[in-house]
Amino acid sequence: MKNLESKVNELTELDKEHYLHPLTPPKMQYEQGPPIIVSEGNGVYVKNESGDTFIDGMSMLWNVNLGHGQEELGDAAKEQMKTLAFSSSFNGYSHEPAIRLSQKIASMAPEDMNVVFFTSGGSEANDTAFKLAKYYWKLKGQSSRNKVISLSRGYHGVAQGSTSATGITEFNSLVGPKSPDYLHAEPHLLDCELGDRSHEDYHKSVRGIIEQEGPENIAAIILEPIMGAGGVFTPPEGYLQALRDLCDEKDVLMITDEIICGFGRTGKNFGVDNWNVTPDMLTFAKGSTSGYIPLGGVVMREKIRDEMVKTDDVLFHGFTYSGHPTSCAVALKNLEIIERDNVMDNVNNMEQVFKAELQKLEDNHPHVTKSRAVGLLGAFELYADRDKEKPFDPETGASFQVVDECFKRNLILRSIDWNGSNIVAIAPPLIANKEEIEEIFKIIDEGLTAFEQSLK
Ligand code: PMP
Repeated sequence: MKNLESKVNELTELDKEHYLHPLTPPKMQYEQGPPIIVSEGNGVYVKNESGDTFIDGMSMLWNVNLGHGQEELGDAAKEQMKTLAFSSSFNGYSHEPAIRLSQKIASMAPEDMNVVFFTSGGSEANDTAFKLAKYYWKLKGQSSRNKVISLSRGYHGVAQGSTSATGITEFNSLVGPKSPDYLHAEPHLLDCELGDRSHEDYHKSVRGIIEQEGPENIAAIILEPIMGAGGVFTPPEGYLQALRDLCDEKDVLMITDEIICGFGRTGKNFGVDNWNVTPDMLTFAKGSTSGYIPLGGVVMREKIRDEMVKTDDVLFHGFTYSGHPTSCAVALKNLEIIERDNVMDNVNNMEQVFKAELQKLEDNHPHVTKSRAVGLLGAFELYADRDKEKPFDPETGASFQVVDECFKRNLILRSIDWNGSNIVAIAPPLIANKEEIEEIFKIIDEGLTAFEQSLK
C-alpha cells in the first residue's frame, strides 16, 4: 500500500514538472497534478494507479469504441509489428494492410465513396480534405474556389485548417487571427425559410454565405453529422438532405466529419447513413481503431480521384504515417470484431435503454432538459429554469459540477460549457450492456442529486 502511494506521488510530481497536457489549464495541472492517472482498462471500466475502478462513460475521447483491454487488437498490432512494423506509402510504395483497409472502408462508405487517403488522426484528415477539395477545383480550372464553410460550435481539430474551421471560438483565440478563408454559418441554419428565421439571419445561413461570397469562391462545406464537442447536437430532420441539395445547386463539395460518428457510434457505419445522404468526402479517425493506435483518413467519391488521374502531377501531400501498416492492421481487426460481434446491433438495442434512462433524468431532476441520443452518443442540458430556458449563472459551473460529482463517484463524463451552455455528454463504449448503462445512469442520478443539494 505504501509502495503504491509513493508511486502515485512520484508520478504526480513528474507529471507536474515535465508533462504539458492538451486541453488542460497548465497552471492548474502544474499546481495540482493529474486528476487521475489511469493504469489499465477492461471493457467499460478503467482503473487508476491506486487501484480504484471507474466507468468510462465517454469511451475516453469518444474513441475507445470496443472498450478497453481488447486483446485481439493488441495481438493484431504485435503480429504486424513482427512482420512489417512500418513501410512507406510515398512514391507509390504499398503494403497489404493499407490496401485491404482502403478496400474495407470503401465497402462501408455510401455509394461511390471508394477512394481512401490515410492520415495519423482527425485534424490531419480534415486539413487533408480541405487541401484535396481546393486541389480538385484547381484541376477543374476553378482555382478561385478556396473558401471553406463550417458551422459555429463545430469542432474539426487543431491543425491549421481544422482549427480555422472549428467554430468554438476558444480554439481560435489561442493565437489569432484565424484565416479569412474559413467562414462560419449558424448551426443548422440552411437558409431563412428552413429553420423559421427572419431574413436578418440570411448572412449567417449557409445559403446566405455562399451567395454573398459567390459560389465561385467556395470550395467546400464541412460539418459533423451530429455535432460532438460543440454540444452533441443532432440536425433537424431534412437538414442534411437539404444541405446536399444546396451543395449540388451551388457546386460546392460537401464534407462530413465522421471522426466521432464513424464506425458504429450512431448504430450505423457513418453518421450520414442515419439520413441516407452521400457527401463528396468524409473524414474519419477515432473509432477506426477504437483508439488503440492513431489512424485517420479521408474517404472521397470517385470523381475526386478521377480528376487527379487526368494529370501526371505528383500529389504533393502526405504524412510519414499515412497508411501506417500497424495502424491499418489494428483497424482491420477492429472492423472485423465490430462485424463479427454484431456491435452495431448492440448499439441499436442499447439506444433504447440509453434514451429511457435520459428520460428518467428529465423526470426526476428539475434542471435537466433537452436530452438526446443517437446510438450511444448522447447528452442532456442543465438550465436554472428549464421551462423558461433560463441558463445557470456561469459562476455556478453547473455542468462542470455535475460531471465532477459523477467523477467523485467513479464515473467519467464530459462537461461542455462553451458560450455559457451547460451540457453533459455521454458516449460509453459500444460494447456496453444494459446493466452497465444503468450503472452509468445510477451514478448520474446521484451526481445530479448532490449538485441540486449544493444549490440550496
Ligand atoms: N473532428 C471531430 C468531430 C473530433 O471530435 C475530433 C477530435 N475530438 C477531431 C476532428 C480532431 O481529431 P484529432 O484529435 O484526432 O486530431
